[in-house]
Amino acid sequence: MPSTLAIRGGTVIDPASGLHGPTDVLIVDGKVAAVGEGIVVPAGATVIDASGCLVTPGLIDLHAHVYASVTPLSIDPDPLAARSGTSTQVDAGSAGAATFDGFRRFIVEPSRSRVLAFLNISIIGLAAMPECGYARFVDANETLRVVEANRDVIVGVKVRASRNALGEDNTAEPVRHAVAVGRAAGLPVMMHLGDPPPTFEDGLAQLRGGDIVTHAWKGQPITRLVERDGRVKAEVRAARDRGVLFDIGHGSGSFNWGVARQLADHGFWPDTISTDVHTSSIKAPVSIDMPATMTRLWHLGMPLGDVVAAATSRAATAIGWGDRIGSLAPGHCGDVAILRIDETPIVLTDSYGAAETVTRRLVAVSTIVGGRVLARA
Ligand SMILES: [Zn+2]
Repeated sequence: MPSTLAIRGGTVIDPASGLHGPTDVLIVDGKVAAVGEGIVVPAGATVIDASGCLVTPGLIDLHAHVYASVTPLSIDPDPLAARSGTSTQVDAGSAGAATFDGFRRFIVEPSRSRVLAFLNISIIGLAAMPECGYARFVDANETLRVVEANRDVIVGVKVRASRNALGEDNTAEPVRHAVAVGRAAGLPVMMHLGDPPPTFEDGLAQLRGGDIVTHAWKGQPITRLVERDGRVKAEVRAARDRGVLFDIGHGSGSFNWGVARQLADHGFWPDTISTDVHTSSIKAPVSIDMPATMTRLWHLGMPLGDVVAAATSRAATAIGWGDRIGSLAPGHCGDVAILRIDETPIVLTDSYGAAETVTRRLVAVSTIVGGRVLARA
């Protein structure tokens, strides 16, 4: 008996397919089989009534930390995935070449949600920080070897371009090594934008089209994307023009309402929306997850379809998985987020303690991975 799941009565938003309206979704044996009004639901199928809800591809969090019990900041992937509509979490450098086997065995394989990874250019990952503080931990050859051996899970290379990653070495060399590995492997680099060194300009200049700047909505004057008068920096425009992607990576230190408003005023929206979930960012007052991060951008005026794209199809494309996840087109993995819109006013805090009252927000109802509903803890 094939396992069959039908999701009926919801409003489907699937930007990759150009769909935004009421329709049904049928998943057979873990893959999307059909999308359309009045699809024939086979006898014995499980039917979910999504009336009044949004039905989107499963959310893809490009910046998560889920190497629980090995890196101090990490959380367990499944409980968060189940309560946030997030079918795929891409770990952002918690594991490095020396610690990746454990990540694969103890996190990726047993998880019911999809877990992928950016491999840290530091072989110790984020087991201890500063992870790039000693030159011996930055090993491009070993990083490339582990990437090649784990291409089914590793989708890019992570480097934290930040003084708290580099320790006393104070150099941009790890960024260059990460880009060298990315070029050799044909994969993107995700660069964490942090306090210099390296400077914002030195780090950004090294990135190629397809590479990703995360934590890009920060508030610190040295690292923010905008000039003092609010205009988007020329280097940022130039980087976007050559295809560099700008990602949220909200976390507990990287999203600023003021900067976000300035960027919105100039029509500069994120390419991808991610959370930087870790042990402190998931706690109040920030309490971040994918729907909460998407809500912030929606509140600022980013159209809902674009918000969904930045959390699904564009994230999938950024990691080269656009043919498998991030869309409800037939043949894609049966990953779905069911969300509802809550119109109770709520105060949402940025990473700097500033608050805004939001009058509508996205709330996850359920997370479906490969046609199976993830049970909430
Ligand atoms: Zn992070």
